Amino acid sequence: MASRASPEDFTSHSVEIALTNSQGTKRALECARDHDARVFIASTSEVYGNANEHPQSETYNGNVNIRGPRAPYDESKRFSEALAVAYERKYEMDIRTARIFNTYGPRMDPNDGRVVPNFLTQALRGEDLTVYGDGSQTRSFCYVSDLVAGIRTIADAPAEVAAGDVFNIGNTEEISIRELTDVILNVVDTDSGVTYKSLPQDDPEVRRPDISKITSQLDWKPSISLRTGLKRTIPYFEQRLTDD
Ligand code: UDP
Repeated sequence: MASRASPEDFTSHSVEIALTNSQGTKRALECARDHDARVFIASTSEVYGNANEHPQSETYNGNVNIRGPRAPYDESKRFSEALAVAYERKYEMDIRTARIFNTYGPRMDPNDGRVVPNFLTQALRGEDLTVYGDGSQTRSFCYVSDLVAGIRTIADAPAEVAAGDVFNIGNTEEISIRELTDVILNVVDTDSGVTYKSLPQDDPEVRRPDISKITSQLDWKPSISLRTGLKRTIPYFEQRLTDD
């Protein structure tokens, strides 16, 4: 959870991110081993890379470019999972892993660089929304309270149903980035238009979680629609922009 997770940071904080997810995970695992504690690993949909299986289920091994700009994050998260599996098997620890898909909500940094804070900030300022590429790429956005409930579900589940296992957490409402501009321009009262910028290298073309495992095994599913979640997020960004 300590790692930065915005693709903008994958370049500017590449080494810090790679070490947080590798050395940081090792320290957490060692600490848990010393104290006989349960461990929750915060992994990511990025382990699937530019997926050629859609939607992505936990059994998919991914398609990550090990030398690309996203590699410091993607590969260190993959390593954190591999290290957790090694600890779990060697030391018989109780470790559970979540692969977290795109999440948004209040308290994101307006300068975070990810698409929801960017679009909301731009819309509230009356600036054009910046679509990278042609906007045909898709994502599936999960509201933060749904994510937190999913994390608690995995972390608190009895060992028989969760120890040693990995679960996707996310919302299955898939939307293209171009469609996301329509939703944002509809929920924010603004004169903003849309501008197109170049697509970053290795930007995944499609992303949607298969959540059938966590739904059937642990009885969790998201309940907040994108439109509802955005409406709950807007007042926070309005306040931040007024304060700044
Ligand atoms: N994106 C965009 N405009 C922005 C920021 C992001 O079009 O101002 C796109 C980005 O290229 C990607 C998608 O929105 O296809 C989601 O990007 P984000 O950085 O939020 O997270 P990612 O899912 O790529 O990790």
